[in-house]
Amino acid sequence: MEELKQRIREQGKIRGTNEILKVDSFLNHQMDVGFLTQIGREFRRRFQDCQVDRILTIEASGIGIACLAALAFDNIPVVFAKKNKTKNIAGDVSISQVESFTQSKRPYNIFVSKEFLHPGEKVLLIDDFLANGSALSALIDIAGQAGCEVVGAGIVIEKAFQPGGERIRGQGVRVESLARIQAMSEEAGVVFA
Ligand code: 5GP
Repeated sequence: MEELKQRIREQGKIRGTNEILKVDSFLNHQMDVGFLTQIGREFRRRFQDCQVDRILTIEASGIGIACLAALAFDNIPVVFAKKNKTKNIAGDVSISQVESFTQSKRPYNIFVSKEFLHPGEKVLLIDDFLANGSALSALIDIAGQAGCEVVGAGIVIEKAFQPGGERIRGQGVRVESLARIQAMSEEAGVVFA
C-alpha cells in the first residue's frame, strides 16, 4: 500500500537498528481515521475471496484498525482480546500468553469471553504490527480454543527482519501485510521488502 509506505518514510520514528518503529502520528497514538478507513478497505479487498464472520484483534492499537476493517466488511462484529482479566469479563474465557515485544518483554495473558467467539465461525485476525509473532500466535490459539476457523491475518506493518511472518505463514495461516519492512535504522531509514 503505497500511501502507507510514504507515511512510514515521512512520519515514522525509528529506534535503534531493526528494533522499534513508532508511527504515533497516524496509527498508535494520534489516529488518522480517514487513512485507517482506507486501510480497512484494503483488508477487505485482500480478503474478498473469504467469508469473514468476525474480526478478532488485541487491545489497544488493534481496536481502531479492526473497527474500520469491520465497516469495510459490511459491519461484522469486532472482538478484542483483553490484557487484563477485569471483574466484568465473567464466565467461560479463553486465555493465551503473549511474550510482549514492546512492553519490557514480560509475558502477559490475554482473555476473550467465549460468549463472543462461536464454534465454526470464520475469523479474520487484525493487528497493527507483526514482529516475533507472539501476539498473533496467541490470537490464533484463542480462536482455536473457541472452535473458530482462522481465515487469515491482516497486518498493517510487518517487520520482515523478525521471524513472526515466516513462523505464522509456516503454520499455514495466510498473512496479508500492507507494508513489509526489510530493514530499518536511524541512519539509513526504512527499506521495504
Ligand atoms: P509480536 O508479538 O509479533 O512480537 O509483536 C506484535 C505486537 O507488538 C503488536 O501488537 C504491536 O503492538 C507491538 N509491536 C511490535 N513491534 C512494534 C514496533 O516496532 N512498533 C510498535 N509501535 N509496536 C510494535
